[in-house]
Amino acid sequence: MKILILGAGQLARMMSLAGAPLNLNVVAYDVGSQKIIHPLTNHVYDTTLEQAIADVDAITAEFEHIPDDVLTLCCASNKFYPGKDAIKTGGDRAIEKALLSKTDVSCAPYQLITEKAHLEQAVALLGKPLVIKTCQAGYDGKGQWRLKSDDQIEQIWSEMADFIASGTEQMPHSIIAEQMIPFDREVSIIGARDKSGNTVIYPLTENQHTNGVLTLSVAGKEKSAIQHQAEEAFNKIANELNYVGVLAIEFFDVSGQLLVNELAPRVHNSGHWTQQGTHCSQFENHMRAVAGLPLGNTELKHVSAMINVLGQSAIPHDVLKVPDVTSHWYGKAAKPGRKMGHINVSASSLHELGERLAELAESLPEEQYPGVLATSTSLILN
Ligand code: ATP
Ligand code: MG
Repeated sequence: MKILILGAGQLARMMSLAGAPLNLNVVAYDVGSQKIIHPLTNHVYDTTLEQAIADVDAITAEFEHIPDDVLTLCCASNKFYPGKDAIKTGGDRAIEKALLSKTDVSCAPYQLITEKAHLEQAVALLGKPLVIKTCQAGYDGKGQWRLKSDDQIEQIWSEMADFIASGTEQMPHSIIAEQMIPFDREVSIIGARDKSGNTVIYPLTENQHTNGVLTLSVAGKEKSAIQHQAEEAFNKIANELNYVGVLAIEFFDVSGQLLVNELAPRVHNSGHWTQQGTHCSQFENHMRAVAGLPLGNTELKHVSAMINVLGQSAIPHDVLKVPDVTSHWYGKAAKPGRKMGHINVSASSLHELGERLAELAESLPEEQYPGVLATSTSLILN
């Protein structure tokens, strides 16, 4: 079976690696160069998007920011999963919030902004500090402002106005202001839904962000009540979207109550640990769902952690001396802050996971790999 993925980055690469043993052969559409390429070798095929759509059995996406005409073309083939509505929802925070309200899933109080008066209203109604985000085009904490005092309003508004003005009729730009949530921690749920509506859901993952970018995830710590809350939100949202494939939902945990931060209609960085921590990874389950195959086991096999490799030119080889560590390199050109690869580590208990993180910290300096030592300490002490 052949599968076309819109987007040719590391997520397409890892879906391709997961699909190969199932005889699912992946080609990727590089939205930048508009070429069809092999996601592992970057070999460019002498074909067009139209021809590739005709040639494959199923189409999916590795990210949300895909031109509307490409989405329309893929949808017309009736092979595209999770479908245009799901991709549009994940790519626009205003549509996303409307879905949360329709499905009665809680999120941070917010206000949509298209003119300056709305910003002043948001300050009055929601209070300060505010997290202000572009509704379209943000990722890894980009396209965000933090408003802490009234004297920032003029400056932030002038930057926001530029973003709003750069929208087009086909792609209007808007902004959302959210109350800054004093969360205890951030978690995410990842699951898959098949074409008949069956769902499988992974254990909740705890995520640490540094400067708006995910740096470290831990899976296997969760209590059943909080897992249940996250699964309920997952099922409501996935069913409402008649979703097919892997869907990720990020939450803020405020004293045991989950508030949705955002949705990702795709495999997600906070689920990379499933490659070694479960029998069937998020990449394999996404491939299975879009190919119409039965979904795989999402139970925890080993407690696990994932460490992102940001902006480095290689993963230190010494990490491989630590038991049950795997290295995942994406083969991209290094740029500061860019996601270059990740390191997965598994263990038979949280205590042992803490010990392995302490060993890893010896070759992963805090500045480049924040939180490894602190997470190790907290796992060992618990
Ligand atoms: P990504 O796509 O990489 O997940 P993003 O750019 O889409 O990131 P968000 O996930 O919305 O952006 O925000 C990035 C981070 O900023 C969050 O993980 C969280 O740490 C912080 N943040 C965002 N919104 C809020 C909020 N309302 N209150 C407190 N912190 C927030
Ligand atoms: Mg996020």
